[in-house]
Amino acid sequence: MTINKMSSFQGQKLVGTLYLVPTPIGNLGDMTSRAVETLQNVDLICAEDTRNTQKLLNHFEIKTSQISFHEHNTKERIPLLLAKLKEGLNLAQVSDAGMPSISDPGHELVEACIEAEIPVVPLPGPNAALTALIASGLTPQPFMFYGFLPRKHKELNEALVKLNQQEVTMIFYEAPHRLKKTLQAMGEVFGMDRKIVLCRELTKRYEEFLRGSLADAVEFAKDDEVRGEFVVIVDGNHAPNHAEEVLDISLEDEVNQKIEQGLKPNAAIKEVAKRRQMKKQDVYNAYHHLTD
Ligand code: SAM
Repeated sequence: MTINKMSSFQGQKLVGTLYLVPTPIGNLGDMTSRAVETLQNVDLICAEDTRNTQKLLNHFEIKTSQISFHEHNTKERIPLLLAKLKEGLNLAQVSDAGMPSISDPGHELVEACIEAEIPVVPLPGPNAALTALIASGLTPQPFMFYGFLPRKHKELNEALVKLNQQEVTMIFYEAPHRLKKTLQAMGEVFGMDRKIVLCRELTKRYEEFLRGSLADAVEFAKDDEVRGEFVVIVDGNHAPNHAEEVLDISLEDEVNQKIEQGLKPNAAIKEVAKRRQMKKQDVYNAYHHLTD
């Protein structure tokens, strides 16, 4: 086991430190004074989007230079950043909003620094997932943070079928234009009566929490005009064994199974709708991929 305490680096050949600096998720008042000082004092800021971060730096009158560090240049940038750290420069890494590494760039750089025995210092600060969780009203621990679900229908469905066995509270990120499809798919696998909280525009003027069942959430998201940033928090499965019998296969497979067993497609859809407490039309649409 390796132990990396800041004190264990003292007295060694001078290397720099990588600071991981969270930034506000919508409210500039959430920038901590330590985050401001760190960004002021480091030699270089590695930013997901330098234009976006420049606005933050201007607001806090921080003059430090930036270098871009995002998902498309991570591989090329890491050797350059490691070289700077080994020369003794201190770096800060920031993403566009919230905590670096959490559904954002950063993890590979942290891994590379640990491997190269360069100190990594995390600052606490804004993060959408935990901010949403503590106000959701759903059991805060244990929880699992999932981040973004796969986009393609098949992969999304497979991921949800696995997640259906989770007994713990689950936290997801989702883009507004995919919310409708994701909630519909969740309802098909988890059952429409599962509790869910949509946490919208956290820390901003129009912050709101929509608490209810997956059926309510699907109804809320049915318009194509859903706007804002969302964290989606879903209650765990409190009857996983029972659910396994009923829901541990995708809706599509369940309908097909019934057709293979001799039911006509319409009857199969009707039966699956009844078992999943869904509207027949919703099962029909999902089975025929009409909601994609
Ligand atoms: N690193 C960030 C963090 O620590 O939360 C997350 C970045 S991820 C690319 C962006 C996603 O986080 C959004 O699609 C949304 O799901 C969620 N998010 C970020 N800010 C939010 C906010 N103010 N309100 C609700 N969700 C937010």
